[in-house]
Amino acid sequence: MSPALDNGAPVPQNAPFVIYTDDQGQLLDTLPVCQDFNRGLCNRTACRFVHLQEGDGVEVVDQRVAVCRDAAKGQCARSTCKYYHIPIALPPAPVMAALASYLQQ
Ligand SMILES: [Zn+2]
Ligand SMILES: [Zn+2]
Repeated sequence: MSPALDNGAPVPQNAPFVIYTDDQGQLLDTLPVCQDFNRGLCNRTACRFVHLQEGDGVEVVDQRVAVCRDAAKGQCARSTCKYYHIPIALPPAPVMAALASYLQQ
C-alpha cells in the first residue's frame, strides 16, 4: 500500500526529491511549483519541484507555494489550508542541510 495524504490523495512520486530546506537545514518559506506537471508534461520521478494535485486548494503565488508551518511542526488545524503540506516526513535538519547543499551543487 502506498502512503496517502490527509485527504486520501497519493503522495506524489517525486516528494522525496523536492528540496524543502536551505543549506542550513532551515525549512524554506516557499517552494517552486513544477510548471510541466501542471500541463501533464512532467515525468521526472526525481523532479525537484512541487507536484500539486488538482483540488489540493493550495494557493500558488508567482508559481510558488507557501509552506504550512503548522503542518511542518506536526499538525495543522485548518480544515482547508491554502499553504502547502509537505507530504513526507522530513529527516533531521543536519541531514536536510547536507542533502540540500549536495543537490544544489
Ligand atoms: Zn515536475
Ligand atoms: Zn496547513
